[in-house]
Amino acid sequence: MNIIFIGPQGSGKGTQAKILAEELKIPHISTGDLFRGLAGELKNEVDSYINQGSLVPDELTTKILKERISKQDCKNGYILDGFPRNLNQAGLLEKITKINKVVEITLDDKLAIQRISSRISCKKCGTVYNLVTNPPKRKEICDNCQTELYRRADDNPDAIKKRLETYHNETSPILQKYKSVLVSVNGDQEIDKIAEEIREKLR
Ligand code: AMP
Repeated sequence: MNIIFIGPQGSGKGTQAKILAEELKIPHISTGDLFRGLAGELKNEVDSYINQGSLVPDELTTKILKERISKQDCKNGYILDGFPRNLNQAGLLEKITKINKVVEITLDDKLAIQRISSRISCKKCGTVYNLVTNPPKRKEICDNCQTELYRRADDNPDAIKKRLETYHNETSPILQKYKSVLVSVNGDQEIDKIAEEIREKLR
């Protein structure tokens, strides 16, 4: 089962992709996380795009994604979070794999901006918190692995605005391509409620 999660920044798609991946026992692959885990020269190159809120070039992104999904742990399927981000990437993906389901999580921009502005994440285990609606038990410490939490460099007002524009102009048009395998869920609900709706709709 190969599944794509698509939604604007702050919609909770990463959180939901992680929940479903654990249930289905398949890897959750976030291209954003893959980029944030890079080191050296390549990291500097990639960060110059990410920190401005721009997309990393398609060839580089697709190369890194392709390497990841060719690993042994992906043989029974995987969940893609943050890829494809435009029609060109969707076309490249089509050449290397078959997608069985696409889950869209919707959220309006005003709420998305509010959520991203109060988001902090764990670099080690990837858990995402919201300082207002879903705070960690101890201030700035991950509940899950006790690592210090951090605010992403691209979660600043200018980059957030640009990322949302890119989502509407370049990413959401690809939903049309996946019409026959698409399910949509309202992201303005409790985390558990959204997870349940996704389960139901994928059943
Ligand atoms: P995310 O963690 O999904 O919000 O991604 C963080 C940043 O990584 C994005 O704003 C882009 O700069 C970059 N990125 C992640 N996925 C892609 C992709 N599929 N194509 C191009 N850039 C990406």
